Amino acid sequence: MLIALHTFTTASTAGRNMVAKVIDGHAVARQVRAECRELTKSLVERGVTPGLAVIIVGENAASRVYVANKVKACTEVGLKSTVYAFDADTPGATVEAAILRLNDDPEVHGILVQLPLPAHFDVRRVLGAISSDKDVDGFHLYNVGGLVVGDTVFPPCTPYGVQKMLEYENILVEGQNVVVVGASNIVGKPMALMLMQKDATVCICHAKTRDLAQFTILADILVVAAGKPNLILPQMVRTGAVVIDVGINRLPDGRLVGDVDFEGVRRKASYITPVPGGVGPMTVTMLVHNTVKAAQRHAALA
Ligand code: NAP
Repeated sequence: MLIALHTFTTASTAGRNMVAKVIDGHAVARQVRAECRELTKSLVERGVTPGLAVIIVGENAASRVYVANKVKACTEVGLKSTVYAFDADTPGATVEAAILRLNDDPEVHGILVQLPLPAHFDVRRVLGAISSDKDVDGFHLYNVGGLVVGDTVFPPCTPYGVQKMLEYENILVEGQNVVVVGASNIVGKPMALMLMQKDATVCICHAKTRDLAQFTILADILVVAAGKPNLILPQMVRTGAVVIDVGINRLPDGRLVGDVDFEGVRRKASYITPVPGGVGPMTVTMLVHNTVKAAQRHAALA
């Protein structure tokens, strides 16, 4: 008799007496980008070059680096990207008017506004001006609502990247206990919704959660996006858990670290993502992916 072996890894069966497998975000990103490159090629053959418009306001140094990375990723895959840079004191109405023009531009398939915006901006209003068909960051209320009911068009890039990493490693989500630490609109909340949609049992923790460890210790899959170095210590993690570290923190000595004590936790987990080189490369990759998807939808309607 043949017995089918399932190819998924579950947190409860993997990782005992072993050091965690480090999930290579660059490798997963390369695979997704190769798929995007193929799709872009066939769109270009049909006369459609996927186009991304990036809006940046002010001189935030980190934002400039993020935008440069996004432009580079687009170029690598064959997309056309255009950056619209505004001075920090630009009125909100001017930026909104630019977005409305881009909404009508048939050569622009995706629009993103680099956050944070200067304090005088009404962020919700600016994001709301982006056509939901071009909302490749997935922050428009229409797409957020789509996440809630399980049929969003453009999932937000960071949690989408985490989902792709879990898929790449064949990590089973269905029926698993997932704990998400961090409840922001761009990472924690959409992450929780996306994994719930995959039939995980999800718990969300935040800064006011009492005794964080009592929740994290139950996680088969622990996703951490709090922005606090060393928030997650080995004693807070179940043996064999899958640990995804979204956090990016710059230490006073210049080192870049996540929210998880990587060296300690990797001796207990079955899988772990590094910082840098984990979720980071996936975020920009999923932006490219969403832009190609927007261009495909546009081409299908044309
Ligand atoms: P955010 O908007 O500041 O949200 C942080 C969340 O973590 C909040 O919900 C906060 O709780 C919670 N939190 C803070 N301290 C906590 C603690 N001690 N215990 C439990 N929860 C705590 O940040 P974000 O934009 O979601 O980003 C989170 C981290 O991910 C940052 O380090 C950011 O740089 C990084 N990030 C990385 C990528 C990537 O591509 N790898 C992308 C985006 C963000 P309250 O809601 O109660 O305040």
